[in-house]
Amino acid sequence: NDVLASIDATDGKVGAYLTIDREDALAQAKAADEARAAGSQLPMLGIPVAIKDLLNVKGQPCTCSSKILEGYIAPYDATVIAKLREAGAVLLGRVNMDEFAMGSSTENAALGKTSNPWNLDHVPGGSSGGSAACVAADEAIASLGSDTGGSIRQPAAFCGCVGVKPTYGRVSRYGLTAFASSLDQIGPLTKTVKDSAILLEVLCGHDKMDSSSIEMDVPAFAKNLSNGTSLAGMKLGLPKEYFVVGMDPEVEQSVRDAVEHCKSLGAEIIDVSLPNAKYAIAVYYIIATAEASANLARFDGIRYGMRIDGKDPIELYGKTRAAGFGSEVKRRIILGTYVLSSGYYDAYYLRAQKVRTLIRDDFTEAFKQCDAILSPVTPTPAYKLGEKSDDPLKMYLDDILTTPINLAGNCALSLPCGFASNGMPIGLQIIGDAFQEETILKVGHAFE
Ligand code: GLN
Repeated sequence: NDVLASIDATDGKVGAYLTIDREDALAQAKAADEARAAGSQLPMLGIPVAIKDLLNVKGQPCTCSSKILEGYIAPYDATVIAKLREAGAVLLGRVNMDEFAMGSSTENAALGKTSNPWNLDHVPGGSSGGSAACVAADEAIASLGSDTGGSIRQPAAFCGCVGVKPTYGRVSRYGLTAFASSLDQIGPLTKTVKDSAILLEVLCGHDKMDSSSIEMDVPAFAKNLSNGTSLAGMKLGLPKEYFVVGMDPEVEQSVRDAVEHCKSLGAEIIDVSLPNAKYAIAVYYIIATAEASANLARFDGIRYGMRIDGKDPIELYGKTRAAGFGSEVKRRIILGTYVLSSGYYDAYYLRAQKVRTLIRDDFTEAFKQCDAILSPVTPTPAYKLGEKSDDPLKMYLDDILTTPINLAGNCALSLPCGFASNGMPIGLQIIGDAFQEETILKVGHAFE
């Protein structure tokens, strides 16, 4: 009830939600109260969670903030949704995002506009902008986002929340609308690292419905945080390439202060190098668009959502896609089709895959020397709505610090580490080796 009241009071301004399942949420909350009275100890009993609108929740819309999916009703629960239900969570509704998760400001959304709760003139980040804004505005206790190139960590940084991009294979993507299948991961957004640990523990685990999900035990992420906040004996790496030219000096200062804090808690700080990081944007925007062009072929006007009739299937297909997709999605489909076309495949796609291996090898080398890596999440804090929306390339460049982690497949956490002089939050990124979520949660917890 408190969260619904907060949504009523705030969401008119913030615009995080696309749909709120009020009756359903109240019924789930009542059931949770009864279960608690009966002694249930489920890890998320009664906790209200908001869902990025690209995850299938049975019987509810799943729009991906695109006109092309208007009218589609999810026929099944994504695995993460089933896991939330089993853990006792209350599903509140679905939140806004960039169309098909393509963007960094939630301004590419076709079905709603979301503002940053810290200053309504600013973007919440993206593509999980609604997921971060609703947590920051107390319109949910936690939310689910997805991260293909930074879409959990960057909005978490812009809205002053905690966000985790788990290792590739940790969390099942069954029921997630695919953007770029070799990069996508689902993860939590919360106010604290402890809360992210609880939610992550619920989400992780092998699922036979997702062939990329790994058969591996899930550590007791939350319990393991109870060992205190000392970082004695830990080595934390600082990559010189991540303090890029053009970085906002206030961001750099906040992150350097956070590094000092880790030192004061006993961590040893060492310099590491990730020399191929500078190619990450080029590689990411080749691989992500290539995979997106294939994944989005399923939206043909026949199988899901919107349909605009034509004299034959080809015309129907063309007309539906022309009207249903927004301009950023079209741009990426065209780019992806181009890099995969014969004659360009070797020059772009294949070469990008080779450089991707070099980027991964950089991390492998760095993690021989340290337990985790510290860096900023973004070169700047949240900017004003409209400031970058007509210059997609400028927006792409801001993904320089988050995309390498998706390309390498390891894990990273974003957590608030300060404020810019205009009052906007600044994020610290804690990068871990593959399946080292416990390590990054431990470092993050040292700030609580
Ligand atoms: N900003 C990046 C993009 O536009 C990342 C998106 C994401 O992680 N879904 O592709």
